[in-house]
Amino acid sequence: MQSLPLLGASNHVFIGGHWRDGATRETLSLLNPSDGSLLARIARGSAADIDAAVRAAQAALDGEWGRLTAVERGRALMRLSQRVLAASDDLATLEALDVGKPLKQAKADAMALARYLEFYGGAADKVMGETIPFAAGYTALTLREPHGVTGHIVPWNYPMQIIGRSVGAALAMGNACVLKPAEEACLTALAFAQLAAEAGLPPGALNVLPGLGEEAGAALTAHAGVAHLSFTGSVAVGRLVQASAALNTIPVTLELGGKSPQLVFADADLAAALPFLVNAGIQNAGQTCSAASRILVERSRFDEVVQRMAGRYRGLRVGAALDDLDVGPLISARQRDVVEHYLAIARDSGLVAVAQAAIGSHAPAGGFYAQPTLLAPVSSAHALAQEEIFGPVQVVIPFDDEADAIRIANGTAYGLVAGVWTRDGSRALRIARALKCGQVFVNNYGAGGGIELPFGGVKASGHGREKGFEALYGFSTLKTVAIHHG
Ligand code: NAD
Repeated sequence: MQSLPLLGASNHVFIGGHWRDGATRETLSLLNPSDGSLLARIARGSAADIDAAVRAAQAALDGEWGRLTAVERGRALMRLSQRVLAASDDLATLEALDVGKPLKQAKADAMALARYLEFYGGAADKVMGETIPFAAGYTALTLREPHGVTGHIVPWNYPMQIIGRSVGAALAMGNACVLKPAEEACLTALAFAQLAAEAGLPPGALNVLPGLGEEAGAALTAHAGVAHLSFTGSVAVGRLVQASAALNTIPVTLELGGKSPQLVFADADLAAALPFLVNAGIQNAGQTCSAASRILVERSRFDEVVQRMAGRYRGLRVGAALDDLDVGPLISARQRDVVEHYLAIARDSGLVAVAQAAIGSHAPAGGFYAQPTLLAPVSSAHALAQEEIFGPVQVVIPFDDEADAIRIANGTAYGLVAGVWTRDGSRALRIARALKCGQVFVNNYGAGGGIELPFGGVKASGHGREKGFEALYGFSTLKTVAIHHG
């Protein structure tokens, strides 16, 4: 096991402002995806720990945290943002080791976490209610109030970014958070708890418990003291989370991934498009909910786009996260097996791999590497064009005209993000309106979008919006007050 920046012991839970052993004292192994070695031991949080965390969060709401004004909450988030910025190199190293993403991508995630805290810190005192014109003799108004204790279940692919967007917005609105990071990667969540304590966030406002999804995660979703759930992860677990929330009649935000397309029309500026077409597929080894895993190209330029993308694929460098190349390993042997399973389906059904990047000779043998693969042409009905692979695999699909492009783009179970490449402004607008998804990028592709841009899906990609100012409405509830004064 190597020594880790920012973390003393990694095998504790953070509850009520204190580090302590989990109730069962059991731990789980965290592997380094770059070489398969043991990276750290983490606590195996249990239902008893979740209960303690929810109580600590409620105590914070009833105590110091609940008494802070919106301005004071905003300042607390700003202080935390500053700590994150100061620690961003160490946070990036932790995330790179833990998730396997190249260091510069991990550094970008640390900067995004700082920016989320800055954005939501600045917004905390700018969320207002309304006065409503009503009957004679009345004044009616609305108040925006916190839900109470909010549960945050975060996956392993972008821990810092997802913590920033959900915990940042929830704290800004005055909720107290219980965060359950993923069992595959949770070190930056633990470091974040440490930085929050150092920044003076009142005890209990943020509680962090690693653990297994079916244990700690399920206990959090079922706890009667939780008033709102934010979940990012798989469709299957998202459905369980929503079912659990239904039993307690609480709201839930689900962000469940996608099969997002980029549409390339014949008039597109290809030189501008190409880096986006490829990067949005291979960033974080394709383990991105908003990965552009489908590239739709107008038939007259299909071969040209495929050849130019293939050239980029051949130049991709794959290796250990700290070597900071283009593509790192996948998170786990299991995830690598999923990708290899899909590549076997591709081979068996006769799909052509027009380009495959080689795994670098320096990549450690025990790491969970997969070869980035570009497949073309692929029919839009094929499993590889329909199912989320969560690996560095892109399919290229030809289309005939605008209507065909829209039909193919909307023709999966998902609806998260889309990109449109065209010089025709009217067409871009028509298509943006016709696409069934949560975000559309025209002549760019934001791979999840900026901090300021509301984000979330339709259909199997989930519901509810995080990021941007919109998230502050999701993480609060509206109370109407009607005063009769005659
Ligand atoms: P997952 O849904 O199993 O895990 C995500 C989070 O949910 C983790 O924190 C996990 O501990 C927790 N969890 C698991 N079971 C739970 C339960 N019963 N109750 C409450 N919480 C639970 O995702 P995964 O197994 O890590 O990945 C599987 C697939 O999910 C991937 O291949 C990918 O398709 C998708 N995925 C999507 C995203 C995204 O950003 N949308 C992120 C990760 C994974």
